[in-house]
Amino acid sequence: MKKIGVFLVFLIAFSCVSVKNPDIIVVNKSPTKKQETSRPKLVIGIVVDQMRYDYLTRFYSKYGNGGFKRLMNNGFNFKNNHYNYVPTYTGPGHASVFTGATPKTHAIIGNNWYDKYEDKYVYCTGDKNVLPVGTLNKAGLMSPHRMKTTTLGDENRLFTQFKGKTIGISIKDRGAILPAGHSANAAYWFHGAKEGAFVSSSYYMTDLPQWVKDFNQSNTAESYLKEWNTLYPIESYTESGVDKNDFETGFKDQNFFPYNLNELKNLEKPFDIIKATPYGNSLVTDFAIEVVKNEALGKDEYTDVLTVSFSSTDYVGHNFGVNSKEVEDTYIRLDKDIERFLNYIDTEIGNENYTLFLTSDHGAIDVPSYLKTKQIPAGYTDKSKIRKKLDLFLKTKYTATGLIKKISNNQVFLDKEIIDLNKLNKAEIEEVIVDEIITYNTIYKAYGSKTLQTTNFTTGLEYLVQNGFNQKYSGDVVFVYNPNYISYNKTGSTHGSGFNYDTHVPLLFYGNGIQKGETFNKTEITSIVPTISALLGVSFPNGSSDKVLSEALKN
Ligand code: ZN
Ligand code: ZN
Repeated sequence: MKKIGVFLVFLIAFSCVSVKNPDIIVVNKSPTKKQETSRPKLVIGIVVDQMRYDYLTRFYSKYGNGGFKRLMNNGFNFKNNHYNYVPTYTGPGHASVFTGATPKTHAIIGNNWYDKYEDKYVYCTGDKNVLPVGTLNKAGLMSPHRMKTTTLGDENRLFTQFKGKTIGISIKDRGAILPAGHSANAAYWFHGAKEGAFVSSSYYMTDLPQWVKDFNQSNTAESYLKEWNTLYPIESYTESGVDKNDFETGFKDQNFFPYNLNELKNLEKPFDIIKATPYGNSLVTDFAIEVVKNEALGKDEYTDVLTVSFSSTDYVGHNFGVNSKEVEDTYIRLDKDIERFLNYIDTEIGNENYTLFLTSDHGAIDVPSYLKTKQIPAGYTDKSKIRKKLDLFLKTKYTATGLIKKISNNQVFLDKEIIDLNKLNKAEIEEVIVDEIITYNTIYKAYGSKTLQTTNFTTGLEYLVQNGFNQKYSGDVVFVYNPNYISYNKTGSTHGSGFNYDTHVPLLFYGNGIQKGETFNKTEITSIVPTISALLGVSFPNGSSDKVLSEALKN
């Protein structure tokens, strides 16, 4: 301690001298300037799953100075940043952030979707051609093979002759795999169930590194099977609704604090409950620190890319809803985890050696049954009723059955064989469906695929629908529910629409090469990686937007 003190005194004395001596000023300044303009040693892309923009402002007074506020006040804050496509789900969200493209181009058109070529439902990161690693469970059968374009990490790998590493981590497989991209060194996700371990697949490796095995064998995950109570007195949580209410699902019928996770856990899958509490984010933070330490990220001249997705916010939001005390507490605790992570990176890599961005994969809707009690137009719709009604209508009109093969993610997939067999015209059927479905009381908009292929929409919901429409993989008619209408349980929040509650998400840049500032100018999620690519001087991901948010970058 004494030695540091002496060194500090020397430093202060030296800087005092330097101010008076112009020659020393020059010597002193140039390393600082060089640091500012050199490439960062580490890029960290953080996605907070289901984080609405207003969680930054609504809970602002509850945050400490070292987490969200540090990024907001010392970085660049894009306050009007939106998703520019539908559907706003986790798979497409993570793919879009890191490819800088929309489903129209990267082809992750949902979390799950009906694949017309394989004639079955597929999962965005599911892959039967790989083997699980670190588990025998099918939770390991995952890869990014359905994503058709490159990520920031891929381009950085190519640029550095594969010397710069890319690693993706998350509780959710898709939250780790899609951000990391195709050429990643590793992606790790949490398999709860009875195992409670971070796992991977043979797409990346044949065996887990020893440090991951050690982490899994430490009782870190188990240590979170404890009580979850509010971090601060619950009376101080004035930014959210009452704790006991009718709009939350809860654990085993309990929807109020405190939760005893050891009692509430599912005995078949004891570790799963961690995912649905703020402790899932703490566990990811613990693991993120281990990744940086053991993979020596940010330690050499080749820039590394680390992607971290915090998924527990999404589970909590689905379970308890946007206005719940549980969501508020989860964000207060995430703020602390982010602070802990940043402090570690500062010490390990140096404040000036990394660039970070933080965003979300989508927002979330206030629970419609709650909105209804406040006289705000909102409600629920039933997918299967829409399907039945449409089937009956087409059967009557064309005296043919089975014209609709599937309805998946608000897209109608027609059966081309049956259309041909009945000598019908597909384009005409699309328009007939549009005219019919728009009369249903929970449907707000509908478009045929021909319209989406031949019209260039530049604003409004049409623009978002078009950006989410992939000519090769999407269906033949796309429809949109009314604002504040969802096909979901009557408790808890969800997401997926093109309305502001789902599209408006935080975008914070921080660190090396980033200007301090903020703007209300509208930005799109697909501009994030072009901006980081520009900062690094690497090629933009191959399907990405070409818009660089240059106001965030230092000259
Ligand atoms: Zn999500
Ligand atoms: Zn979700």
